[in-house]
Amino acid sequence: MISTSPGRLTSLLLDLSTREAEVSRADDLGPRFRLVSIAGDSLKGVAWSPGDMVQVVVVGAALLGPWEVRSYTPLAFDPATGTAEVLWYVHGGGPGSGWAASATAGTPCRLVGPRRAVPLRTSRRPLVFFGDETSFGTAVALRATPSGDGDVRFVFEVDSVEESRAVLARFGLTDAALVARDAGDSHLDEVEHEVLTAYRSAGAGVLTGKASSIQRLYRALRAAGARGRDITNVPYWAPGKKGLKGH
Ligand SMILES: Cc1cc2nc3c(=O)[nH]c(=O)nc-3n(C[C@H](O)[C@H](O)[C@H](O)COP(=O)(O)OP(=O)(O)OC[C@H]3O[C@@H](n4cnc5c(N)ncnc54)[C@H](O)[C@@H]3O)c2cc1C
Repeated sequence: MISTSPGRLTSLLLDLSTREAEVSRADDLGPRFRLVSIAGDSLKGVAWSPGDMVQVVVVGAALLGPWEVRSYTPLAFDPATGTAEVLWYVHGGGPGSGWAASATAGTPCRLVGPRRAVPLRTSRRPLVFFGDETSFGTAVALRATPSGDGDVRFVFEVDSVEESRAVLARFGLTDAALVARDAGDSHLDEVEHEVLTAYRSAGAGVLTGKASSIQRLYRALRAAGARGRDITNVPYWAPGKKGLKGH
């Protein structure tokens, strides 16, 4: 009879369910943004569509745990070299944020995916795209779709307009509407105005980022006559909740 020790079984399961890679490069793009390249043979030849997410194991190296995964959207993915580039928002309040803050070239990394999150390839154009700092990578990924981002109006709610503008400019996104958050969410009036105005000429919308903002904008769009199938919603985070998975 073959006996398998729990340690071996655990690492076998981990090997089967995750891809092993490592950080090949990590650069600060601002006080709260970090561009992290993750590369590995296990990512070579893998199918990726813009808007797909990967789940990174940010706590724990063995399935017996504790371990936690967090979801991120590669802004680019090269199956030839097996490299995923992720723009991390380092908000400072969770293990995913902490993992990115300390990641440097050579940091080992395990991930799951890529798998479907926001179907950017099939999103109709013209399009209004709403999000926040966590959505910048998804916004950049729109470039890699056949329709590109030329016919997309970007609207973002952000903590720092200045920092966000500088980060987006590095990726050539210079004409986004950036609205500064305020504690009572009254900035959402302006966000809603921007999104509704853009939707009137676009006819299609993608809403990502903070769950409560998406909910409000979805209601406003529906009240303005948008059909449910013209709007894609994928909440990326919510205050007090850990590790949303995009569905
Ligand atoms: C499909 C999908 C794609 C995503 N793509 C990206 C991406 O490309 N880049 C990226 O940076 N993020 C992305 N996110 C968001 C990211 O997964 C969340 O922000 C996640 O919660 C971060 O994990 P954490 O361990 O840092 O915080 P968690 O442990 O998950 O959360 C702890 C607490 O931190 C707070 N928190 C979480 N996120 C934020 C935030 N953004 N701002 C302020 N407070 C926050 C909440 O109060 C939460 O309760 C994506 C999420 C999904 C579902």
